[in-house]
Amino acid sequence: PLRESDPVKDYQIAVCIRKRPMNKKELNREEPDVISVPCKDEIVVHEPKVKVDLTKFLENQRFRFDYAFDENCSNELVYKYTAKPLVRTIFERGMATCFAYGQTGSGKTYTMGGDFQGKTQDYKKGIYAMAAEDIFKYLKSSEYKDLNLRVSASYFEIYNSDVFDLLANKVKLRILEDGDHQVNIVGLTDILVKSVDEVIELIKLGNISRASGKTSANSNSSRSHAVFQMSLWAPDSNRVHGTFSLIDLAGNERGADRTSANKQTTLEGAAINKSLLVLKECIRALGKKGSHIPFRGSKITQVLRDSFIGERSKTCMIGMISPGMFSCEHTLNTLRYADRVK
Ligand code: ADP
Ligand code: MG
Repeated sequence: PLRESDPVKDYQIAVCIRKRPMNKKELNREEPDVISVPCKDEIVVHEPKVKVDLTKFLENQRFRFDYAFDENCSNELVYKYTAKPLVRTIFERGMATCFAYGQTGSGKTYTMGGDFQGKTQDYKKGIYAMAAEDIFKYLKSSEYKDLNLRVSASYFEIYNSDVFDLLANKVKLRILEDGDHQVNIVGLTDILVKSVDEVIELIKLGNISRASGKTSANSNSSRSHAVFQMSLWAPDSNRVHGTFSLIDLAGNERGADRTSANKQTTLEGAAINKSLLVLKECIRALGKKGSHIPFRGSKITQVLRDSFIGERSKTCMIGMISPGMFSCEHTLNTLRYADRVK
């Protein structure tokens, strides 16, 4: 497995996988752990030891990624190898994006936001807050302090094709594309922040909105993409110097749900499926010069357009997987998706 001493690589696109530990439910029903992480960049899905009716799952399958994090890796370690190297990008006038992808319950929110379901409310150990901490550190560093940059934060949710402001009671917002194809979310709350604690307060506020079902957006967060952005601004201009977008994607199993009798669920599933497919194509195109980037194909890629077209853009995708045998179909979907992003 990955060790603290392993070097951090520099990539334009990094694709990583994180396996979470077995949870109580899986342990209680003695569900076998079918995932192993033999070395720092390899994931193996094992043939289950007991007979199961899974025709697509017959033998061990191996996958290689930039990094593979096993169940003993902390959020800090995951951060160090994934989002942390992107902080410099936004100080160098670039765009940085970090996606958490995977099935519901695989650890996306735990990784991005920190463990705020438990009693400890460990927001500080989420990638959002750790990235904020480094941004404030860089601001004060000798290298960047003369730029006198300011930091702002926004937090919104994309459900079906609608955008909701999580810092303004989930009000629905419009997207406008101007003559330069610049995409703007009209009226999005963007608040100047001066410390990690202020950032955490905004995330808390947004999460309360996210969990409420006041609007047409469902209260179930697994059906929407959450986008947390921090931007740097030069003191005397209203142009963005650089933006870091951190995205907790909708559960990828939702996209697969085509058999539901419920119309709402089917629509949601179709929207999620489409957006995840377009996202994959956009990230793939990022790595190839001159290729067509289909960012208009979904709202999430439309609002992140600048992250895909910028030459200085850097992206990191963390695919989260559950270890249990009953999750292996979704796990394989996640691994194949991540495999194709590269
Ligand atoms: P998702 O956002 O992908 O639906 P969550 O982040 O909510 O999944 O995780 C589901 C549950 O598993 C939560 O209770 C969370 O605390 C726990 N969990 C996820 N990843 C880990 C991990 N690496 N270590 C310990 N607990 C985890
Ligand atoms: Mg979640």
